[in-house]
Amino acid sequence: MKARAFRYARPATVAEALEIFASSGEDASYIAGGQSLVPALALRLQAPDILIDIAHIESLRGVELQGQWLRIGALTRHCEAMTDPLIVRHAPLFCEAAPHVAHPAIRNKGTIGGSISHADPASEFPAVALAMGAELEIANRDGTRRVPADDFFIDLFQTAIEPGELLVAIHVPVVRTGHRWAFHEFARRRGDFALVGSGILAEFGNGLIEQIRIVFFGVGSTPVRARQAEDALIGRALNRETIMAAQAGVGEGLTPPEDEHVPPAMRVHLARVLLGRLLGQIMEQA
Ligand SMILES: Cc1cc2nc3c(=O)[nH]c(=O)nc-3n(C[C@H](O)[C@H](O)[C@H](O)COP(=O)(O)OP(=O)(O)OC[C@H]3O[C@@H](n4cnc5c(N)ncnc54)[C@H](O)[C@@H]3O)c2cc1C
Repeated sequence: MKARAFRYARPATVAEALEIFASSGEDASYIAGGQSLVPALALRLQAPDILIDIAHIESLRGVELQGQWLRIGALTRHCEAMTDPLIVRHAPLFCEAAPHVAHPAIRNKGTIGGSISHADPASEFPAVALAMGAELEIANRDGTRRVPADDFFIDLFQTAIEPGELLVAIHVPVVRTGHRWAFHEFARRRGDFALVGSGILAEFGNGLIEQIRIVFFGVGSTPVRARQAEDALIGRALNRETIMAAQAGVGEGLTPPEDEHVPPAMRVHLARVLLGRLLGQIMEQA
């Protein structure tokens, strides 16, 4: 199939993009890297009257350290997460997740902002944003607001971004000395969307876990925090017993999709296995 004919606009500023959307009667789509949108247009899952190409808006680019936060511009490409020195140092889960996202050709075009706005439940970057406690900066015609990742992912492909709004940047609290982290996923083949994946960020003090964020993806309509597993670990040392206690807490809150090849119970099992491996890695680092 081919995409329906559409009009095309190439704004130079966020304000211009928001105005064009507002004047379109909401029959518009922003396009960034196009790696999710173009296939959707070709399949006519979406058929907007106008495409607003945000890829040339300079203020959506760049990675910058702002005190204890790293600002990652929405147009930062997947491949840059693997090489940008500030991301590698201060937001390492983005760097570790990036090689698992699709293939080099897609990583060269796809943007982190596009991935987080699209919010595919099996995507790596939304889960990593949640695991790192990021805040998402959203612009509309009245100004901007920052939404914590915990409140951002609402449902399947649904986020706190309202129609016409733009995700401007991802603000990530920088990792500190006591932080340890791990990321991995199970996929049928390298580059496929994950069957189950997880990103973990833990903060240690005096050998004990003071804070931990354990996030799974591919097991629900959004990336999801494993709160019971987190509670089993907070205030404890990481060892074989506490890891098993955390694994026992996995399942609550996970709603894996029905899939004839990978039934929900198997995804939950894989999530437990993955958690054991990642916590084992963190135990070795600690
Ligand atoms: C073969 C293939 C394999 C893939 N495998 C994976 C994978 O394993 N893991 C994974 O995570 N992804 C995968 N993807 C998707 C890819 O990562 C996309 O690049 C990404 O999801 C969307 O980023 P984009 O910049 O291309 O967004 P686009 O495709 O341009 O846009 C996607 C959606 O987000 C909206 N949008 C984009 N930017 C903004 C913004 N700043 N503010 C508001 N709305 C915005 C658009 O309007 C559109 O609705 C794959 C894609 C393909 C084609």
